[in-house]
Amino acid sequence: MTESNIIMPYIQFKSIVKSFGAAKVLHGIDLEIEEGEFTVLVGPSGCGKTTLLRIIAGIEELSSGSIHIGQERVDSLPPSKRGIAMVFQNYALYPHMTVFENMSFGLRLAKAKKDFIKERINYVAEILQIKELLERKPKTLSGGQRQRAAIGRAIVREPNVFLFDEPLSNLDAELRVKMRVELSRLHRKLEATMIYVTHDQVEAMTMADKIVVLNQGMIEQTGSPLELYNYPNNKFVAGFIGSPAMNFLEGRITEIEEKTIKVVLESELEVQVGFKPNSDTSIGDTVTLGIRPEAMNPNGKGEGCIIGNIDAVERLGGETYFYVTTKGGAEITVHTPMDIVASNSDDILIGFPMEKCYLFNDAGKAFKRIDS
Ligand code: ATP
Repeated sequence: MTESNIIMPYIQFKSIVKSFGAAKVLHGIDLEIEEGEFTVLVGPSGCGKTTLLRIIAGIEELSSGSIHIGQERVDSLPPSKRGIAMVFQNYALYPHMTVFENMSFGLRLAKAKKDFIKERINYVAEILQIKELLERKPKTLSGGQRQRAAIGRAIVREPNVFLFDEPLSNLDAELRVKMRVELSRLHRKLEATMIYVTHDQVEAMTMADKIVVLNQGMIEQTGSPLELYNYPNNKFVAGFIGSPAMNFLEGRITEIEEKTIKVVLESELEVQVGFKPNSDTSIGDTVTLGIRPEAMNPNGKGEGCIIGNIDAVERLGGETYFYVTTKGGAEITVHTPMDIVASNSDDILIGFPMEKCYLFNDAGKAFKRIDS
C-alpha cells in the first residue's frame, strides 16, 4: 500500500491523559473516528466519558496527548476554533431568548447577515420540525422541544463534529425512544460526525456505528454494536453490553484439549465448551461461564443444563423474563420470546446451547471461541 491510498481517520486521539490534581481520570486514550461516524462513548458513572467529551470541545484541558481533526491538531486551539458544537444534558438554552434567538446567537456573534441567518434557521427548523416554536421562550417548551431547539442551535453553526453529552437523560422513557430514532435519522440526513456520551447501553446499541466502552479512564473495547455483543474481549464488556445483562456462572477447568475446555460449574454440572485454551491455561483454574438471558431455554433444551428456583416471573404477553437462583446460588435472568406458564418458587430446568456460551479466565479475559 502506498502512502497516498492510506485512508487517515478523521479524528485521532493519541495517548490522552487527564488528571485533576493527583487524581488521574483518563489513563492514555487512543481512539480513531472516521468522518461521518456516529460514535458512542459508554461506560459506568465516573469512568471519564464527559471529561473526554469536554476535552474534545476544549472546555477542559488535557494533561498530555494530542487530538487531530482532519489534518489539524486542535488540542491547543480555543473551543470556537475547533469546528465543534456541543449539546449538553441540560440543553443550556438562554431562558430570556426565543428559540429563534437562541439558535441564531452564534451566527449573530459571527456577524452573519440577517437574511442568511433567517434562511439558515428556517432550513434547520424545518429539519427538526420546530418551525412553529421559533418565537417561543424555552420555559414554554416541553423537554423534547427544548432538546430539539438545543440541537438546532448546534446544527445552524455547521460544525465539523457534533458532541452530545447524555442529551436524552432528562426525558421520559417514551420520549427517549422517540428522540433516539430522530437523532439517528438526523445523523443520516446530515452525514455528520457525531460523538455521543451515555451510560445507557440500549442507546449505545441502537444508535452507534461504533461503540467505545470506557471503564475507569481506559478503553475496554471498541467496535460495532454487534461486534461487542457477539465478541466481547472481556467479562466487563460482556456484562455491560446487552440487556438484560449476561449471566455469569463460576466454574473450574477440569480438562483441556486442543479445541475444547471442560468446565465444572458450581452446581457440579460439567460442560465442554469450544474455546481455544491459552498457553497459560491449567486444569483447576477458576473461570466464569457467560450465557446471555436470551440464549437460555426455560424448557431445558440445549447441551448445557442447570437447575434453579424461580424468584420472580415477568410475563409481558409476547415474552417472559424469569429471575432465577441456581442450585449453586447464582442469580440469573432467563428471557424467552414465549409466554410460558410458571410461578414463583417453582423449580425450573434451564438449557443452553454450547455455541452461545462465553468463557472468561480469572482475570476476566475472554477465551477465543473456536468459531471466531
Ligand atoms: P457520569 O456518567 O456519572 O456523568 P462520567 O463517565 O461522565 O460519569 P466524568 O464526569 O468524566 O465521568 O468524571 C470522571 C472522574 O473525574 C470522576 O471520578 C469525577 O469525579 C472526576 N472529575 C470530573 N471533573 C472533575 C473536576 N473538575 N475536578 C475533580 N475531579 C473531577
